[in-house]
Amino acid sequence: MAKIKTYDVIIVGAGPGGIFAAYELTKKNNGLSVAVLETGTALHERKCPIDGVKVKTCIHCKNCSIMSGFGGAGAFSDGKYNITNDFGGTLYEYIGKQEAINLMKYVDSINMSHGGEGTKLYSTANTGLKKVCMQNKLKLLDASVRHLGTDINYVVLENLYDELKDKVEFKFQTPVTKIEVEDEGYKIITATGALRCKKCIVSVGRSGSKWIEGICKELGIETQSNRVDIGVRVELPAVLFSHLTDELYESKIVYKTEKFEDKVRTFCMNPKGAVVTENTNGIVTVNGHSYEDPEKQTDMTNFALLVAKHFSEPFKDSNGYGESIARLSNMLGGGVIVQRFGDLIRGRRTNHKRLADSFARPTLKAEPGDLSLVLPKRILDGIIEMIYALDKIAPGTANDDTLLYGVEVKFYNMDVKLNNNLETKYKGLYMIGDGSGVTHSLSHASASGVYVARDILGTN
Ligand SMILES: Cc1cc2nc3c(=O)[nH]c(=O)nc-3n(C[C@H](O)[C@H](O)[C@H](O)COP(=O)(O)OP(=O)(O)OC[C@H]3O[C@@H](n4cnc5c(N)ncnc54)[C@H](O)[C@@H]3O)c2cc1C
Repeated sequence: MAKIKTYDVIIVGAGPGGIFAAYELTKKNNGLSVAVLETGTALHERKCPIDGVKVKTCIHCKNCSIMSGFGGAGAFSDGKYNITNDFGGTLYEYIGKQEAINLMKYVDSINMSHGGEGTKLYSTANTGLKKVCMQNKLKLLDASVRHLGTDINYVVLENLYDELKDKVEFKFQTPVTKIEVEDEGYKIITATGALRCKKCIVSVGRSGSKWIEGICKELGIETQSNRVDIGVRVELPAVLFSHLTDELYESKIVYKTEKFEDKVRTFCMNPKGAVVTENTNGIVTVNGHSYEDPEKQTDMTNFALLVAKHFSEPFKDSNGYGESIARLSNMLGGGVIVQRFGDLIRGRRTNHKRLADSFARPTLKAEPGDLSLVLPKRILDGIIEMIYALDKIAPGTANDDTLLYGVEVKFYNMDVKLNNNLETKYKGLYMIGDGSGVTHSLSHASASGVYVARDILGTN
């Protein structure tokens, strides 16, 4: 029988968390043997079959090219790296606020030296918009935002891969099925065979959420899950938000609803961008992105409005709740539903005629419908309240023709119980990035990768 190969470190998942862990582990050519095992394909092979002509909607590929492969869920994203502890994850709770910011800045410097130089860094510091928001019961969160754009983000990933490929063994189309704890490390069982490692970094992102849940159960690692964010993606003429997006690019604004004191927030703002669909475990939801290249830009801006839903005991399946709501929209609209704000508040569905007559041109072909049949009243009321609040700082937001796409769901992975080194109860078994529940953004996930690599190298 062939001997099983042993590595110093195996990284499961080639998203930002896995890539930055691999980068940091090998940047000084210190002779460590490192393998990265990834369910999806290499970057250049990642291709979503939706071409708008032959394939118009999601055909539920076994491996979603948007969510998996080198670059992870972030590969075709807008590439917004938010340098902040205010949102994007709770890494700072483990490693401290200053260290978290330092690592995010370090990640930014690597992105800059791998093709991102020249891209703009936006900041909320000293903006007058904070006061305007406050005067209208809105809160603008603090952040610096590096906007790479979908195109430059791809170039940075290509450059990182070129640098890493000779130092790290990448094994694509190699889903890990099981992790076994051994005396001297870990046995990693994949669909194509077994490998061994002394240390293992698990960075499987959102697409690996079900898998990591199973692994934690098998290994007796404690987890906890109680949050899901549900809402819509708003699309309107870019000019209505230009005073915000020109200065800040992405403004994270929070509103507290009058009736329930629920928090509604803007999320993932894409100036002059496009609305896109997203497939998580076979459920089609909505998302958005934009390009740095002016030729690829549209004249519409999109952003999500999300309501955070926290559940208390005994209910534990917050993601299941979000999935059921998304399934409802998939059932009614065959995927994503689009509705004009004017139709929503008049209590009628948007049909093809009303959509065609509207001044706003949708950037995503979605089925016109009625979001009030999909979203729970409390969530919908909160979204409507926030649209009216935003209308005060960006007049026109509450226009009849403002488009709402539903549903947008932000699933949170359950929180894995970890120590301050992001290590499970097993020495040398780390869980990082979105899969661990510690992060939910490119910058935090990447920073968590650097952090555990330094822990392994003993340089933290
Ligand atoms: C359309 C879109 C746009 C986004 N835009 C932004 C943005 O502008 N800014 C921002 O901060 N965030 C954005 N995000 C979120 C961001 O992409 C994630 O927070 C980030 O990618 C998380 O990194 P990660 O390494 O933890 O996981 P991921 O990027 O999800 O990578 C995990 C990898 O692990 C692989 N994997 C899963 N299970 C296994 C297994 N069992 N064996 C082997 N491999 C496995 C997956 O195939 C995947 O490639 C966006 C997400 C999407 C989907």
